[in-house]
Amino acid sequence: MKMNVLVLPGDGIGTEVTREAVRVLQHVAAKFGHEVQLTEGLLGGVAIHKTGVPLPEETEKLAHACDATLLGAVGLPEFDDAPPQQRPEKGLLGIRKALGVYANLRPVRSFRSLLDSSPLKNERVDGVDMIIVRELNGGLYYGLPRGVEGEGAEERGTNTMTYTRAEIQRITRMAFELAKNRRRKVTSVDKSNVLETSQLWRKVVNEVAAEYPGVKCEHLLVDNAAMQLILNPKQFDVMLTENMFGDILSDEGSVLSGSIGMLPSASIGAQRPSGAWVGLYEPVHGSAPDIAGQNKANPLGAIGSVAAMLEYSFQLLEEAAAVNRAIDAVLESGNVTADLRPKGAPAGTDQVGKAVCDAI
Ligand code: NAD
Repeated sequence: MKMNVLVLPGDGIGTEVTREAVRVLQHVAAKFGHEVQLTEGLLGGVAIHKTGVPLPEETEKLAHACDATLLGAVGLPEFDDAPPQQRPEKGLLGIRKALGVYANLRPVRSFRSLLDSSPLKNERVDGVDMIIVRELNGGLYYGLPRGVEGEGAEERGTNTMTYTRAEIQRITRMAFELAKNRRRKVTSVDKSNVLETSQLWRKVVNEVAAEYPGVKCEHLLVDNAAMQLILNPKQFDVMLTENMFGDILSDEGSVLSGSIGMLPSASIGAQRPSGAWVGLYEPVHGSAPDIAGQNKANPLGAIGSVAAMLEYSFQLLEEAAAVNRAIDAVLESGNVTADLRPKGAPAGTDQVGKAVCDAI
């Protein structure tokens, strides 16, 4: 197979982890006899520096032309006080919207060799295997009106949380389809005791759930969900939620497995006639300015995102499994970065990337 992949390294550790993810992609492709055509593009702070905008038109064109997009992370501290339109993160929201990727899939699973790295007791984490399905194109991050206006005591900031029935239906179907091949349970998270958007959300989820009699559907309020994720994470199989709740809960979920650097994500949209999904693949973490440029970043979340790309955008399940098995083998070997608190000297980002290739 020929794979046309757009690579957007972004900022900070995004560039470091993406380098290793690409190394693994090229390695697994060669091993299984596929051809990878890579194109590099600009997104985030680096794009602002070079073109004045966080998402250049050229990047958007490239993303549409390629089969899949691999992204590092965006964000530079120098833009922390910039207006929203001129922040690197605007590029990220822009490319998700441009590609129409409306479902963010974030698998959270425990790794035996990392149980001691989790802030929770071993017995609580051992066996966690869930996937967070986060709606990615709607809700508070995109709703209008938005902005800050007025002055003095009357200066007012506004954001709008809004969802249509169609938006809720398509993400709910995706969650139930995934649950069919897992442990057949969907937990939908909302705030329906307070928010009208959540009341519509719950009503539509129940309607879609009726189409899947073999899958159990339950509802949790988001505050309780945040608590249950710590108290008893093993109860979850597929957790379905809207954009902002998912953003927060998936970071909470990320530490269950030991480090935010471990978590991959897949943002997927339309399904092509071949059955492959349009997809944007990125680790869950940000650009981590505190460790950027030091070869300390854990690349396994980015490498796991390559496995997700192979699975969803290229339907290469065997190749995806080979990458995931190699990640497990490297974790077992203890040759890991400092965030996973190895017993010996921590490995560098590049060493971990090479170790994954060797294990493949
Ligand atoms: P962050 O995820 O960058 O870092 C949080 C903490 O986790 C830091 O201590 C960091 O060192 C550590 N960490 C993160 N990834 C790691 C890895 N792979 N290996 C080892 N340690 C890792 O979140 P933040 O500090 O809140 O944000 C920094 C910048 O990243 C901000 O500009 C933010 O807007 C941006 N951001 C971007 C994305 C994205 O591009 N998808 C996501 C979140 C944050």
